[in-house]
Amino acid sequence: MPEKISGIEKGSRKESLCGETLEQGEYFMAKVAFIEPSCSFNSYGYFRFPLMGTICLGTILKEAGHDVMVFRDSVQSVYDKSKGWLHEALTKVDVVCLSLMTSTAERGYLIADAIKKVAPKIKIIMGGPHPTYMSEEAINHADLVVKGEGEEIILDAVENENLTGIVEGPPVSDLTKYPIPDLSILTEKKLPPRQAPISTSRGCPYDCIFCTVSATFGRKCRFREVGHVIEEIEKRISEGFKKLFFYDDNFAINKERTKELLRRMIRKNLKISWSAESRTDIAKDKELLELMSKANCSTMFIGFESVNPETLAVYNKKQSLDDIKNCIKLLHDHGIRVHGMFVLGSDADDNSTAKETVKFCHEMKIDSAQFALLHPLPGSKLYDILDSQGRIFTKKWSLYDGSHVVFKPLKMTPLELQEKFMYSWKKFYSLMRNPLYFAVSRYILNKWEKANKSAIAELKARFKK
Ligand code: SF4
Repeated sequence: MPEKISGIEKGSRKESLCGETLEQGEYFMAKVAFIEPSCSFNSYGYFRFPLMGTICLGTILKEAGHDVMVFRDSVQSVYDKSKGWLHEALTKVDVVCLSLMTSTAERGYLIADAIKKVAPKIKIIMGGPHPTYMSEEAINHADLVVKGEGEEIILDAVENENLTGIVEGPPVSDLTKYPIPDLSILTEKKLPPRQAPISTSRGCPYDCIFCTVSATFGRKCRFREVGHVIEEIEKRISEGFKKLFFYDDNFAINKERTKELLRRMIRKNLKISWSAESRTDIAKDKELLELMSKANCSTMFIGFESVNPETLAVYNKKQSLDDIKNCIKLLHDHGIRVHGMFVLGSDADDNSTAKETVKFCHEMKIDSAQFALLHPLPGSKLYDILDSQGRIFTKKWSLYDGSHVVFKPLKMTPLELQEKFMYSWKKFYSLMRNPLYFAVSRYILNKWEKANKSAIAELKARFKK
C-alpha cells in the first residue's frame, strides 16, 4: 500500500526524472519550482499578496515528499531577457509549474521558453485561469497544461512523466481534505507577505459579465469546514502574522457559515485583524456586521464596480446605487474601513463617469479605492460579446491587467477611456488626507506612466480623439 500523508498517496514512480532507478520502498522525490510571473501593473503587488494556487499545490507536493519552492517574479525577478539571465535554481529542478493569469501569460511563456532552452529535460506544467481558457496557446510553451483546478491532478502531473498535453483538473469536491498551505515554501524570505493569505471557499452564484470566477469554479459554492479554517488562522498567529486577507471571491456568500466562522474567532479570542472581499449585500445583515466588527475586521474590499446604474445593469451586477450607499454607511457605522473597487468603461459609461465616480467616493468618504479599466478576460461573457462584435483591438495579453484599454468603448475613444484611468487614481488620492495612501498611489502611477510611455503613444497614434 502506498504511504499516505494528509490523505494524499505518495508517488509511485519507479525512477527519478534523471533516470535513476529507485529501490523498493523509495519514492520519487522531485525538485519542483512554482512560478508566479509578474505583470506590468498590479495595485495588489505593493501589498505583496501571493497567489493561493501555487502555495496550495506546492504544499500538497511537499507533504508527499517532494522538494518545493515558490518564486514570485514580482517580488524577486526570475528572468531578465535583456541580460539573458535566468535564476540558476530554475535550471536545477525536475519540474517547473507556472500559474498564469491573462496579464502574466506572456511573461510566463517567456520564462518557460528560456528554461526549456537551457534545460530541455525539465518538465514545464502550466495552469491557472489563462491556460484554462487558452490551453491551445499555452501548450506551445509547456509539456502539460492543466485546465481547471489542480489539486486532484498535481501529484500525477509531477510524478508521471508520460502525462503530457492538455488535461482537465476535476473540481475539488472536499476543500477540507487538503493540508493547510505552507507559506515557508515561498522563496522571498526578505519580503514575506505583509498579510497572511487565506482561502475558505470557491465559486460564486453570480454571473458578472467581466468575471471568470463562476465559469471557472462553478456557481455552486464549496466551503472548507470552519474548524479547518480556524486551525489555519491559529497557525498564522503562531507564525507571527498580525493580519489576514481572506481571498474568497465573496467572503459572505453563505452568511450563516460566515457567522459561524466569526463566532468561533470571537470565542477563541483570536488576536488578528483581517480583510476580505465581498458584495454590497454583506451590509444587509446586521448580525453579520456586528460579528465582523467584534472579530476584528479592519477593511472590506467591496466590488461596487460602478456608480452608474446603467453600468451596474450592463455588468449584470445585481446591485443598486442605494445598495452601495447603504453598504458604505453601515460598514463605517461598525468601524470597518471600506476599499471600493470600480470598473470603468462599460457601454453605458461616457466621459463623465470617471469624474462622477471619484466625486461619489469622496462624498461617501470611502477610505481607499481602486479603478480598473474594463478588460475582456478569456473565459468571461464580456470576451465573447466584444470578440463577436470585433471590438477587441489587441490580444497582447500583458495589457489585460485593468490598466490598459484593449477594446473600443461605445461612448468614448480608447484614448479617452485610458485617460480616465489616470484621472481617477490621481484625483481620488490627491484629495485624500492619508499621506501614506497618497505616496503609494503616486509611486504606483509614476511607475506605470514610465513603463507605459510607448503603449500610450501607440494608443494616441491609433485612436486620435
Ligand atoms: S465579480 Fe464577484 S460577484 Fe460577480 S461573478 Fe465575479 S466573484 Fe461573483
